Amino acid sequence: MEDTRKDSNVENVVIIGSGPAGYTAAIYAARANLQPLLVTGFNSGGIPGGQLMTTTFVENYPGFPDGVLGPELMDLMKVQAERWGTNLYESDVVSIDTEVRPFELKTLDGTIKANSIIIATGASANRLGVKNEDKFWSKGISACAICDGATPQFRNEELAVIGGGDSACEEAAYLTKYGSKVHLLVRSNKLRASAAMVDRVKANAKIEIHWNTKVEKANGNDWLEKIETINVQDGKGEINVKGLFYAIGHTPNTKFLENKIDLDKKGYIACKSGRPETSIEGIFAAGDVVDSEWRQGVTAAGTGCMAALATERWLSERNLSKTVVREIAEPEKRLNSSDFNEEEVNEETFDLNSEWQKGSYALRKLYHESKKPLLVIFSSPSCGPCHVLKPQLKRVIKELEGEVQGIEIDIDKDQEIAKQAGIVGTPTVQLFKEKLLKKQWQGVKQRSEFKQAIKNIL
Ligand SMILES: Cc1cc2nc3c(=O)[nH]c(=O)nc-3n(C[C@H](O)[C@H](O)[C@H](O)COP(=O)(O)OP(=O)(O)OC[C@H]3O[C@@H](n4cnc5c(N)ncnc54)[C@H](O)[C@@H]3O)c2cc1C
Repeated sequence: MEDTRKDSNVENVVIIGSGPAGYTAAIYAARANLQPLLVTGFNSGGIPGGQLMTTTFVENYPGFPDGVLGPELMDLMKVQAERWGTNLYESDVVSIDTEVRPFELKTLDGTIKANSIIIATGASANRLGVKNEDKFWSKGISACAICDGATPQFRNEELAVIGGGDSACEEAAYLTKYGSKVHLLVRSNKLRASAAMVDRVKANAKIEIHWNTKVEKANGNDWLEKIETINVQDGKGEINVKGLFYAIGHTPNTKFLENKIDLDKKGYIACKSGRPETSIEGIFAAGDVVDSEWRQGVTAAGTGCMAALATERWLSERNLSKTVVREIAEPEKRLNSSDFNEEEVNEETFDLNSEWQKGSYALRKLYHESKKPLLVIFSSPSCGPCHVLKPQLKRVIKELEGEVQGIEIDIDKDQEIAKQAGIVGTPTVQLFKEKLLKKQWQGVKQRSEFKQAIKNIL
């Protein structure tokens, strides 16, 4: 693609956020030859891919009659946005200077100039501040049942979910797949979830609803063992649980705007009803960050489309758009273009020299026979952060040109191996060299961290 922009230091449009709103805006802006730059987000407002990375099956997104896994849907949106020429920039935006033209966006890694901006930073799950919350965070307490539910510590144990809305009900129902019983702790005397969801929860014999109940404290040794509760009628109580999952609503990710753009009373970006324009000319907004009411994947995508079309119109009316010229009208198809073997290997398909293999057979063989550093990722199919991390690790492996080998273990399939490795959540990455564990990471980390750790042991 030939770049005909005169001042290539200034972006036509920067899209902030990689949820359904951000990627849809990117697809439209890219197809309009604006070559958008999309800042994916990293830490401050949830993971790249947004909230749908934390759910399992999305059953209501049009075009998927049998449902689609949230992380898979977001992977598809990402591939589509990149295919049409979106550039991805892995970072968080920390502030925007709205006084200057072009706008200046400060990120964790530098400053970007842009003629227009689309804010699609979504919303983040709230925390409660229960006593000992920090101590047991990721050691029994989690804000994502879907990401962590499959960990061995939760299997056949009693678990609890806090909340009374759709997310709480969905998470409670999901956790019954793993736990022996799920306590749903509701602070009032009714559920706010949709009628269908309430029926589903009430019909599930493994879910016990505790009305008018709040959690005060978490207790245990190395891992959560019980929670102290307070109930309006029964007073103080205790429930033995190995897992406590928060599903207590969201806060719009607008802190980085430092009130430079008008917000509504709840902190969501204020736009005129049904319009993507914010209080600052040239800055548009889309998705959950403007929507305290509907908050769905498809509404976010819809408003992302509106924001991109409005931005394109705004830029061209002011002669600010500097479009790119495509050499070929139809960009190359991107799906299934992975260089890595994604099938679980066995005795016949195992390859001692392969850069990336899947499954416990590969791990055992390489652990005993490979002389190279081994990067092992423990994942589960429904874990959104795993979908974020895997391509990063594959990039590290490619960049190190055969110096390191990668192995993926699905903890759903290989529970025994996960237990032996002491895995308490996904994604966990372990780095081995000649049978010695050199380093371990939990959660999504920067590519450079893995690269440096590998280089240190080469
Ligand atoms: C558990 C769960 C299940 C759900 N199930 C469904 C469902 O079945 N169907 C459905 O339609 N909807 C569902 N939803 C709702 C849906 O996920 C949201 O409505 C949708 O993801 C909103 O999209 P968005 O693009 O506005 O924001 P988000 O998906 O929240 O994405 C926001 C993006 O912005 C980034 N970001 C934040 N701050 C910054 C910053 N400072 N700098 C750079 N980037 C930043 C984040 O990293 C993220 O990439 C579910 C939500 C949850 C939590």
